[in-house]
Amino acid sequence: MARIVVLGGGFGGLAAAAALRPAAEAGHEVVVVERRQTFFLGLRKLWVLAGSADLASGSRPLHGLARHGARWLQDEVVAIEPEGRRVRTRTAQLAYDFLVLALGAQPRPDLVAGAEWAVNLYDAEDLQRRAADVQALRQGRVAVGILGLPYKCPPAPYEGAMLLDEFFRGQGVRERVELVAFTPQPSSLPAAGPVGCAAVEGQLAAKGIRFEPNRKTVRVEPGRVVFDSGELACDVLVAVPPHRPPQVVLDSGLAEDGWIRPDPRTLRTADERVFAVGDVVEIPMANGMPLPKAGVFAEAQAKVAASHILHELGLGQPEQFDGYGYCFIEVGDRRAAKVVGRFLAQPGPQVEVSPPTHEAWEEKRAFERERLESWL
Ligand SMILES: Cc1cc2nc3c(=O)[nH]c(=O)nc-3n(C[C@H](O)[C@H](O)[C@H](O)COP(=O)(O)OP(=O)(O)OC[C@H]3O[C@@H](n4cnc5c(N)ncnc54)[C@H](O)[C@@H]3O)c2cc1C
Repeated sequence: MARIVVLGGGFGGLAAAAALRPAAEAGHEVVVVERRQTFFLGLRKLWVLAGSADLASGSRPLHGLARHGARWLQDEVVAIEPEGRRVRTRTAQLAYDFLVLALGAQPRPDLVAGAEWAVNLYDAEDLQRRAADVQALRQGRVAVGILGLPYKCPPAPYEGAMLLDEFFRGQGVRERVELVAFTPQPSSLPAAGPVGCAAVEGQLAAKGIRFEPNRKTVRVEPGRVVFDSGELACDVLVAVPPHRPPQVVLDSGLAEDGWIRPDPRTLRTADERVFAVGDVVEIPMANGMPLPKAGVFAEAQAKVAASHILHELGLGQPEQFDGYGYCFIEVGDRRAAKVVGRFLAQPGPQVEVSPPTHEAWEEKRAFERERLESWL
């Protein structure tokens, strides 16, 4: 009987464990190593920022993995040793026949001098501790900024700015609270092409949120962000730091230039027993830009990787990752725009954006609900 080890119990790891259920039912062992006790979708952080929901109501304990026949080991992965086909955690050494690496990408505020002054939109603890300070503002300037590349879920900072617009309107102070969104990129969502950028930038403009592209952060100081050219004074900075893979991935020898680059169709790495999915991988699109980091891709890639493992175990047919993905951009007032794309299409991503509707806002809630219900 084979042992399949899944590293990471986030979006990709949980999708892989669920898809590997036929292997567990056939008597193979599926082990998920994750240091956290619970899972919640990243999109919850936006609702915490705007005070519309908490994390607890969208969190599920990882014990739920048992329903897929998978064993959850709550531990920290400290070494990945492909040549020995084993993984070391703080307390155990796990040999594997197949490995699914889904350890994600870490927001790294330490890479930007002074970034600790900013509220980290992507850090659940920082956000829970300091969202109330943002919401308490009654006048001044709030900047929502991307401090470096790459980062996951490209629309999320803009959604954060739009949800804050709604929040401050609700408080009756919006005319006294200025909102600015900035990015080092030349446009809001380069991977979504001109249609995606126009949709986001149009919404920001309609809400009176100033958008500043090409703002490359050099450092943050209390009360201001210093760019390579110019600066921006602000009373509050809600920031998205640049992301990097966990150190244990960099040390594994599986990463090239910082990221793992598996076969985009199969997610198999250069080591035939190791698959890598989600934010820890970098997959180029036909236009040369990297595929955006998003849960919907982590999930689809995990299913593909699982199908190849199942096939090798004589259980089903292998699938291919086609780069299809979608997301819901919340614009406030219980409405969301839906973005649907074929991101690995030739000669470049084909993306469509539908105008914001209440139905798409509800679809986003269903997106969260369905994943929590089917994974845990
Ligand atoms: C504000 C926000 C909004 C978002 N909205 C959306 C959205 O609407 N749609 C969408 O598709 N995506 C969205 N995303 C992006 C999505 O959350 C990520 O792309 C997705 O979680 C990536 O999945 P992953 O499995 O690669 O990594 P993760 O989900 O981050 O999982 C990695 C796991 O590995 C664990 N781990 C890391 N290192 C170790 C170690 N050494 N030992 C043990 N465990 C370890 C971590 O604890 C983590 O649980 C959003 C993200 C944010 C922050």
